[in-house]
Amino acid sequence: MKELANLLYKDAHFCQRCGNKLEIKADFEHKLRAICENCGFVLYRNPIPAVAILVLNEQNEILLIKRGIEPQIGMWALPSGYAEIFMTPEENAIAELKEETGLDGEITRFIDWFFGYSPIYYRVLSLGFRMQITGGTLKAGDDATDARFFPINALPEIAFAAHRHFINCETGLKLKVNNYTLQGEPIP
Ligand SMILES: [Zn+2]
Repeated sequence: MKELANLLYKDAHFCQRCGNKLEIKADFEHKLRAICENCGFVLYRNPIPAVAILVLNEQNEILLIKRGIEPQIGMWALPSGYAEIFMTPEENAIAELKEETGLDGEITRFIDWFFGYSPIYYRVLSLGFRMQITGGTLKAGDDATDARFFPINALPEIAFAAHRHFINCETGLKLKVNNYTLQGEPIP
């Protein structure tokens, strides 16, 4: 576990509360964390939550956006984003859909969760929501450079394993869904 802790805390050297040095050591539950020797602050590394939105139109086409930022810049993906602390997951999904596609929508149901790899946060816990469009005009925005509907049988390569999983859940497709180690090695 020491090796894992060294990886997770490799960029964390100083306490964000008092500025003293952090040390990797066991906490009261005997789990290795980065702990401040001076003030006792404990820095946790947790999975980061994210939301993804799956919309199918009347022609059974899926709404995708082309990513304008890393990770996976230039690839197609479901509208998605990291969860904001001041919003519920549902509010997050509605806001991300609006920001990235210009469309208003409502949640029809929760699809599933997916525990995936993040090159920045190591682990991302994605929550998939099925939504339907209620208004707005389709136009790529925010961190998306394009947004459009694709027929299910002519999808481009999809950026994230989590999104492929949600698409599989809702369409019966069998897109490859692999995961990665915390070091970013693909798990076959
Ligand atoms: Zn401190």
